[in-house]
Amino acid sequence: MNDRYGRTINYMRISVTKSCNLSCRYCMPPGEQREVSEKLLSDSEIFCVAKAAAALGITQFKLTGGEPLLRPGIVRLAAAIRAFPDTTAVTITTNGVLLAGFAKELKEAGVDAVNVSLDTLDPSYFQWLTGHAALEQVTAGIETAQSAGLFVRLNAVWGRQSDGRELVRFAQQRGLILKFIEMMPVGYGKNFVSEEKTDLISFLQEHYGKAQRIDQLSFGAGPAAYYRFEKLRHPIGLIRAVSHPFCETCNRIRLTAEGKLKLCLSYRDGVDLREALERGAGERELIRMMEQAIYEKPKKHSFLEPEKITEQGAMISIGG
Ligand code: SAM
Ligand code: SF4
Repeated sequence: MNDRYGRTINYMRISVTKSCNLSCRYCMPPGEQREVSEKLLSDSEIFCVAKAAAALGITQFKLTGGEPLLRPGIVRLAAAIRAFPDTTAVTITTNGVLLAGFAKELKEAGVDAVNVSLDTLDPSYFQWLTGHAALEQVTAGIETAQSAGLFVRLNAVWGRQSDGRELVRFAQQRGLILKFIEMMPVGYGKNFVSEEKTDLISFLQEHYGKAQRIDQLSFGAGPAAYYRFEKLRHPIGLIRAVSHPFCETCNRIRLTAEGKLKLCLSYRDGVDLREALERGAGERELIRMMEQAIYEKPKKHSFLEPEKITEQGAMISIGG
């Protein structure tokens, strides 16, 4: 469906857990109090919301978290959503730690792609950033996923200590699409925003030659702008929500693990679908509630006007 600004909304990020086996400093730093909630949506509740979303024109779903591979039954849930007649893609965003053990099952369930979040290939920086010495598990997960025939993309949040060239080399050698993501001022990310190297494209051009913008790639419902570089075989994606906002073409909505439908990362507002499900709302009512909320999706985020950001939650609770 279209919202009131004429944007077609066809992509939903579903957060399936608030737990994680890493503690990334910009998302859920080590030692911080995690908000634990007993009241996460059940599989059947997520299924009902996804089905209502599909009826409203959502064709692409992303399963996220927390770490989605920690949720029991994640493969079954992915398969059930992939089986909707109009679904064109179900993808998963994972930190990759458990990926090796899941890759084959995910492929068999019909998962179209996995996005592995990997910000560095330096073991000690990885440990500092994530609180765990798990880099080898992540790279093994990537290799196993590729061998299982899954389409794998790498997502790297860009910070002052980012080692972009190592990641570029790693991705190019393996034919992986690499996307660099600007740090967003959401949750603990606010503490890191000023650290980022703002001009990503200049950095890349300096090392890899002139950049040429190309069309979206497969499963391209995301906001990345893709570029080919003279000295690189495979394109690189850039998601620059802060310096190059893409709100005018934003196509996404989010479902938190607790059942809130969120329309924009910047704002706390959302619709409490769990409450509706608990009082027995049927599919028609869910569709009506979601339709109204989507229609009123905010025009743009407010990342450049921090006083207007009302979202106070950590990214681990929202799903990125
Ligand atoms: N645990 C999974 C993972 O790391 O891919 C899924 C959840 S994680 C919240 C989803 C994505 O959000 C990750 O790629 C993570 O790096 C990114 N992320 C977290 N906080 C962010 C921030 N402040 N700005 C930009 N990206 C962020
Ligand atoms: Fe966990 Fe992903 Fe957040 Fe890192 S970014 S703490 S892996 S949810």
